[in-house]
Amino acid sequence: MKKQIIFDFYNTLYNPKTEKIFWGGFALLKNLSKQYSLVLITTGSKDRANQLQNFSGIKYFTKVILCKKKTFSMYRKLIKRPYLTIIIGDRPEEEIAFGKILNTRTLLVKSSVENPVISIKRFLKESP
Ligand SMILES: [Mg+2]
Repeated sequence: MKKQIIFDFYNTLYNPKTEKIFWGGFALLKNLSKQYSLVLITTGSKDRANQLQNFSGIKYFTKVILCKKKTFSMYRKLIKRPYLTIIIGDRPEEEIAFGKILNTRTLLVKSSVENPVISIKRFLKESP
């Protein structure tokens, strides 16, 4: 079974300051999609749905979930094999906390400090 990566969108792949995907994000997703099943979970409504429609990288995801609020049970249902799952996001109290409870690997990105694409590449290079 393929490893899966569950991505957050806002401030993880999408930079609200530039209103674009972080530099290098498309190439990263393209490469990762060869090796991993990619899942995107994001909160919001119409605005976010529009952003997603304009996001050409969406094609690299096997599953895209747009919800009002991220919940623990959503993650629990998605994650069949925690040891094959990596959760990547910028919210310690949401996706990262869920991943820790569910025993997945997690990567907390901090876009104010570093382009998340760089953080993700380094993390996966050290332990794919
Ligand atoms: Mg976020």
